[in-house]
Amino acid sequence: MTDRSGSPAPEDVEDPPTVTCSRCDRSWTLTYELDELRVGNRAVEKFALDHRQHTGHFPEEVTPWVADCRQCPDGEAFLAERPTRRWAAAHARHTRHTIEVRHGDDEPAVVGLEE
Ligand SMILES: [Zn+2]
Ligand SMILES: [Zn+2]
Repeated sequence: MTDRSGSPAPEDVEDPPTVTCSRCDRSWTLTYELDELRVGNRAVEKFALDHRQHTGHFPEEVTPWVADCRQCPDGEAFLAERPTRRWAAAHARHTRHTIEVRHGDDEPAVVGLEE
């Protein structure tokens, strides 16, 4: 850690965000994500993905994008559309399966080989 004079680090972090999960009946303040992981405005996303990794579900405040294969148990969830569609396209390409991409209550999009 060097002390760079002239560019003081802005340490005045505003109230860190909190995430609540009703399934766990807990809420978390994301100071760890901000202070230790330094993920900044992606703290909620980072937390949600970690939460799913360790508990198997997303905090319900977070609406994930879900890719769900119609033909096999495979599936994956992400917090953005692009990686979800990328996963679905890759799965379709390698398996020739058809995958539904869903976000919340929106109409699911179907991803499959166009042949
Ligand atoms: Zn939970
Ligand atoms: Zn599949």
